[in-house]
Amino acid sequence: MNATDENGEKDCVFCKVIRGEIPCAKIYEDKKFIVIADVYPASKGQTLVIPKKHETYAFKMQKEEYEEMQSLVYDVARAIDNALKPLRTCEVIEGFAVPHVHARLHPAYEQYLQLQGQKETMDKLEETAGRIKENMPLA
Ligand SMILES: [Zn+2]
Repeated sequence: MNATDENGEKDCVFCKVIRGEIPCAKIYEDKKFIVIADVYPASKGQTLVIPKKHETYAFKMQKEEYEEMQSLVYDVARAIDNALKPLRTCEVIEGFAVPHVHARLHPAYEQYLQLQGQKETMDKLEETAGRIKENMPLA
């Protein structure tokens, strides 16, 4: 356990989203993962793929769980590409702001990756999330 994980799951923003205590624009959910629109998108359609199990660092995950996450990332990235037609969708995993593993998908509409976003309204997030959701493979 490190300094950024003092409060663990109890006060973790993503655990609160998973428990339904914080509203989100949901794109996909199954037993192990939730996929939501990032509330602070740097570009339209920025999306988070989040394992439900609270783990602070991606490379402390079980390898099998990490591979399952990446398999879902692939489906979500293709859904973003189909729905929003960016040049490409980029993936970033760092997790310094929220110490709960998440893969952040950045649709890039030009050959430049803007990482810092601004807070978006829930209406706009829901609209974009809905378009991506329509392009997800059927479960
Ligand atoms: Zn958490």
